[in-house]
Order: sequence, then C-alpha cells, then structure tokens
Amino acid sequence: MSEQLYDYCLLIENYPTEINGVEIGSEDSRWKKLAKLFQKERAELKDCPYCKTKLRMVQREKKGSLYYKFEKFSAKLWLCANCGYWQTYFYFFEPGEQDGGNIFEVTKPNLQLFSEDFPEECRGDIAKAIRRNPSKWHNIDPTNFERFAGELFKANFDDCEVFHVGRPADGGVDLYFIESGGKKWVIQVKRRAASGYSEGVGVIRNLMGAMVDNDVLNGIFVSTCDHFTLAAKEYARRSHVKGYAINLLDRGKLNRMLDPLISPDDMKTYLKTSIAMDMIREKYCHNSFIEFQRFVNVHRTVSKGAELFDYR
Ligand SMILES: [Zn+2]
Repeated sequence: MSEQLYDYCLLIENYPTEINGVEIGSEDSRWKKLAKLFQKERAELKDCPYCKTKLRMVQREKKGSLYYKFEKFSAKLWLCANCGYWQTYFYFFEPGEQDGGNIFEVTKPNLQLFSEDFPEECRGDIAKAIRRNPSKWHNIDPTNFERFAGELFKANFDDCEVFHVGRPADGGVDLYFIESGGKKWVIQVKRRAASGYSEGVGVIRNLMGAMVDNDVLNGIFVSTCDHFTLAAKEYARRSHVKGYAINLLDRGKLNRMLDPLISPDDMKTYLKTSIAMDMIREKYCHNSFIEFQRFVNVHRTVSKGAELFDYR
C-alpha cells in the first residue's frame, strides 16, 4: 500500500473527513472512491503496516442485537501484538438492499490531541508510536521523555508513586519513585539523540552524588542509550556491595516496559464497543466519537514489571 494512500485511509477513519484540507462528506464521490480503494488494499493486509509483525485475528463477533436489522453480520478484529496497531472488518448484508458493506478502521496515535499535558490515556499512544517508529526514543522532547519515563514506572508497578521534579539541576534528580512498600528511589533520565550511544561511568557517579545529596540509598539511571559501558555496570554492581542500589535501564529494558501500555486486552473489548460506536457516530457529532474512543482507550491492564529491575 502506498504511503500516500495510507495517509488518506487514516483520514477516512474520522468523520467528517478531508483531503488536502478540503472537507468532504461520506456522500461525496471522492470519499466513496477512497473508501473502496481502502477496503481493497486493506483486505489484503496481513502484516502490521508499521512494524511488519504478523497480525492476529483476536476477536470475532457474529450477528447480535446491535445489528439485528441485517440478515448477515460479522465483525473481526486484527491486532499487532507488538505495537498495538489494530484494524476491524465489518460485513453486513440485507437482502433487497443494493449494498453489502465492508468497513475497515485504523487508528494512529492521537498524540496531537495531548501535546501539552499528559493524561493517562496518552501513555499508550506514545508507547505505540515508539514501537511503530523506534527512532522516537531519540527525538522525543527530553522533558516529555522524563515524564513518559515516570509513566512507564507507574504502568509497571502497582500502587507506586512517581513525582516529576520538572526543574533543571534540582539536586540532579528528574523523578522520585516510591514503591508500594515505601522504598524510595531517585531517578535520573537521559534522552540520548544517537541510537548507538553508550553511557559511561561518569553519569553513574553523578547519580550516586544525587543519591547522597538526597539521603536516598536507591537510584535508577534511565537512558535511551544502546548500552552501559562495562565500567558503568561495574560501578553499579559495587554500589550494591556498599549498601546502595543503582539500577541501570537502557533502551532495551525501556522497550520491555512499554508492554503494559500496549495490552491486547483493551483491544479485545474494542470490537463490541466499536459496533456501538458506529451507532453513536451516526447519531451524534464527531467530537462525541473522539471522546468515546478515548474512553475506550483508557481501559488498560497493568502488569508487574519488577523483574526488569533484577540487577545482575
Ligand atoms: Zn505493529
């Protein structure tokens, strides 16, 4: 599928839609043309268009009360388990009417809806965006990345508290992290622009300084680096011997921490609500649809991520 067409397809999802800034309605012949092309291309799509992972059909609904008026109705949901991309497929047929119908829907992260502040449902969008385009680890705004790192801790640890300091050079701490059992950690966060960056021992010594300054025994260094140098790892290892705890999180570990934000479980509830959404979309305005979609996206499962901190 060409990239250009794909962009058009993304527009089709939301009603009313537009092409090159010109609004078109669903009765418009251009819209119908695009929709047709979209269905044709999408029907052949077996792999995730973002990360090429093989899509899995995770849910199937047959004729139900919502669509009683159609003789035949089925809906399917396909999901990319890696980046959370999904697509649905609807088929309905009513004898005597001219058209059966196939409708596919796609989403892209609605980051633009949440650029200023960071409501909960935004975390998943960012996680998906990063899985779809890993270069985002390196070009996300550094301050936003500090906050997102805080969200990753919240998503991976039940009942923890995370505070974003949000001021530069404040005792060298970017985040305070308190586990449910009360254990306190100071966290330093570095967003590195180069994907091959290796984090040296100097910054880990600096973290130790921040721990001492803040009277906290435990510290975590979070970095979008490719890896930590041997000297950095050795320094962290020795900190444990001396009664401190320094844990190092590189991009690989951070990537695993995205998992709870890309849960297939929220998608499984999606298909039924999507059918309901179609009705809502017809009845109410576009904004209600967006609100409803956000509501659906909020339902996420949280899993424990403690093993990520197992220091070896
Ligand atoms: Zn994918």
